[in-house]
Amino acid sequence: MSKYTGPSCKKCRKLSQKLFLKGAKCYSNCVMDKLAAVAKKGRGGPRKPKLSEYGVRLMEKQKAKFISGMTETPFANLFHKAGKATGQTGEQFLKYLETRLDNIVKRAGFASSLRSARQLVLHGHIKVNDKAVNVPSYQVKPGDKVTLVAKLADNVNVKQGLEDAQKRTLRPSFLEFDASKNTATLLRWPDRSESSYPVNDQLIVEHYSK
Ligand code: SF4
Repeated sequence: MSKYTGPSCKKCRKLSQKLFLKGAKCYSNCVMDKLAAVAKKGRGGPRKPKLSEYGVRLMEKQKAKFISGMTETPFANLFHKAGKATGQTGEQFLKYLETRLDNIVKRAGFASSLRSARQLVLHGHIKVNDKAVNVPSYQVKPGDKVTLVAKLADNVNVKQGLEDAQKRTLRPSFLEFDASKNTATLLRWPDRSESSYPVNDQLIVEHYSK
């Protein structure tokens, strides 16, 4: 399946909820907020489609997939990998999504959206344990150190991301951030409550089990 390259906001509108795909802009200039304000005044608002049970499960899977920015095949492959690991499949799946390199780069604050985080990785601006890694899907493990290369430290977007992470206390407790070295260390696997994916993992498990 080809990669979706259209407007991010269209995905939120399709699922009738905010998916925070555009970083800081989602807090200041969001079409979903405008629609919600209109709905409050009793004049339309976001569409709420009636869904079958299958539709509800599909919607939940789509939500996680849209947030991750992955296409169907790698997304399903990651789910099946989680199914083979010990522990609950849904929880394991969320752990794997959370600790992909692009997501760790975003949660560390080097980028304010997953899309920008992916660009940083793809362009070779990120190192893992002092080695350049340009694969956004790279699985970060506890103890790994994720570092922004020194030449990007003064980049305007990076500075903005770091400021936002600091201001909104977006950095999770499973990451230890060393501002002097621009390095984030994954201290442990994140648990379900710390996931940046606001999804019901059980519905995703049911979707792939049918
Ligand atoms: Fe667009 Fe972000 Fe709002 Fe979604 S949450 S509609 S991506 S601005």
